[in-house]
Amino acid sequence: MVFRTAALAAAFVATSAVAQQYPTKSVLMLVPYAAGGPTDTVARVVAQSMSKPLGQTVVVENKPSAGGILAPEQVKNSKPDGYTILIHHIGMATTPALYRQLRFDPLKDFDYIGLINEVPMTIIANEKVPAKNLQEFLAYIKSNKDKVSYANAGIGAASHLCGMLFMSAIQTDFLTVPYKGTGPAMNDLLGGQVTFMCDQTTSTTSQIKGGKVKVYGVTAPQRVASLPDVPTLQEQGLKGADVAIWHGLYAPKGTPKPVLDKLVGALQETVKDEAVKKRFSDLGATTYPPEKATPAALQAHLKSEIDKWTPLIKKAGVYAD
Ligand code: ASP
Repeated sequence: MVFRTAALAAAFVATSAVAQQYPTKSVLMLVPYAAGGPTDTVARVVAQSMSKPLGQTVVVENKPSAGGILAPEQVKNSKPDGYTILIHHIGMATTPALYRQLRFDPLKDFDYIGLINEVPMTIIANEKVPAKNLQEFLAYIKSNKDKVSYANAGIGAASHLCGMLFMSAIQTDFLTVPYKGTGPAMNDLLGGQVTFMCDQTTSTTSQIKGGKVKVYGVTAPQRVASLPDVPTLQEQGLKGADVAIWHGLYAPKGTPKPVLDKLVGALQETVKDEAVKKRFSDLGATTYPPEKATPAALQAHLKSEIDKWTPLIKKAGVYAD
């Protein structure tokens, strides 16, 4: 008995010594969507900034799947040692209501690191669409219903949620084409293969500014400072399609406290980093203040978003198996 207690104590000391030294090698940040999309963009900015305080490289790895449901499962099943973490968005709050067979539980399978930023979305279309404003666009898509298609990143993606709200607000459904991220969806939109989509400004800003796509509105109550000429959907009379996409960082459940503290500390440095804040605001995103970049704030926000979206999704009757 004495021996067992001593052995357990020795094991504990060894584990905590390893945890104290963390990180001694690079950290993997899994992204649930394809490279070149908005989640990937946010991940790369955060990974680069977190590398400095951690003293090790944070490597971004894309694990794309429709709806972004595979990366959380992979992180859930990773060793809880701080070397594999997850960046994800609002999908952590919407997928539990959308999937009957989800293989992770956002409220049980993770330790929380903190909130990162909030990003509005934009309704954009390929440049061949002749409409000059939202009203003309609505008339165009309704009268060309058989030819029009909507691109998204699969059920559970932000682009799916926004499309669902938009179609319900205008009471019209369109053919939906799912991708493993809106990066590839954007390529097809630019190529004219799909008609329109709703995507985060972290991805659409440069295409809008470059005149490569048509833009019909922002899904926020106020205009976005970096896109001052783009009206909100609300100011053009369309209510019910507003949505703000938030990002958070997660670790597998059971990550030792000293490791988690270091990740939280690095995220704190990131949200205070002026270069990060500027990069995000240039892309229409708002960086959360340090008091939101904490495990408690992410957990509380996730829970409130699940409570907010679950009844709306159940009412819409949308499911993926
Ligand atoms: N913005 C995408 C979404 O619809 C995901 C991505 O490609 O980052 O959730």
